[in-house]
Amino acid sequence: MPRGVVPRQPARTGRQDKVRVGTGTPARPGRGNASAAALEGRQKSAPKPAPAAKVKAYNPVAPERVTEILKRLDLLYPAVTCALTHSSAWELLVATILSAQSTDVNVNRVTPELFRQYPTVEAFAALEPEQLEPDVRSTGFFRNKSKSVVGAAKRVVAEFGGQVPDDMEKLLTLPGVARKTANVVLGSWFKKAEGVVVDTHVHRISRRLELTKQDDPQKIEQDLMRIIPREKWILFSHQIIWHGRGLCIARKPKCADCPLENLCHAGDKTWSTVDMHKNAKT
Ligand code: SF4
Repeated sequence: MPRGVVPRQPARTGRQDKVRVGTGTPARPGRGNASAAALEGRQKSAPKPAPAAKVKAYNPVAPERVTEILKRLDLLYPAVTCALTHSSAWELLVATILSAQSTDVNVNRVTPELFRQYPTVEAFAALEPEQLEPDVRSTGFFRNKSKSVVGAAKRVVAEFGGQVPDDMEKLLTLPGVARKTANVVLGSWFKKAEGVVVDTHVHRISRRLELTKQDDPQKIEQDLMRIIPREKWILFSHQIIWHGRGLCIARKPKCADCPLENLCHAGDKTWSTVDMHKNAKT
């Protein structure tokens, strides 16, 4: 070290030299004690503390939240498919028509014998609705369902050469086929994501999870199509349908066992670690 150069030592007071604590104002030499008024003035002009960061408003359809829901559904139901027994687009169409207001288990009890008795779409097209009624009676609403199935068969044979069309607009021309049924056939058989299946489970759970506020299935579908990536539309419906059967059941959902629990603010939860939103329910 060169002679005469002395390393700087900390002040004995424990403070750094020429730094005043408290006012944020540098010391001014030669002023002595400040008067009370001057001190008060300085305090008034002291910089205001920065305002606290604004808390972000809760947005139930924020992309991060939707992504997290989809991620957890993927872990819970990695490879779920349609639970209706079928071996062709026509059989899936019939099973989906029969599943309205019924359960898949109930439909699966009826369809194997039905398809054995009437193995082709042409065989269904040759029937009168009344002939089908006894076979589908146990699925409920059997008169309307018989009319729809036979009417759809006649049209598929007459207009589409006996082949169920893989096109939304054409499917919607078949008797008894609305978007839900068309989406099931397009998604599960043709692997075409034209929309999101909104059945009773998707309806209930989308509202519980605040992915929609709507009550009309078509509006719910539009909401879901807006926030869920298209490549997830088919799987998402299957996952939610399985979730609705196993955990998020209509009455007394099993919230304590649900991996979505801390993301879910449903007003009718049976157990919760987060706020519950009274409007978020079926
Ligand atoms: S926490 Fe409860 S209400 Fe929410 S999704 Fe899960 S089972 Fe359904």
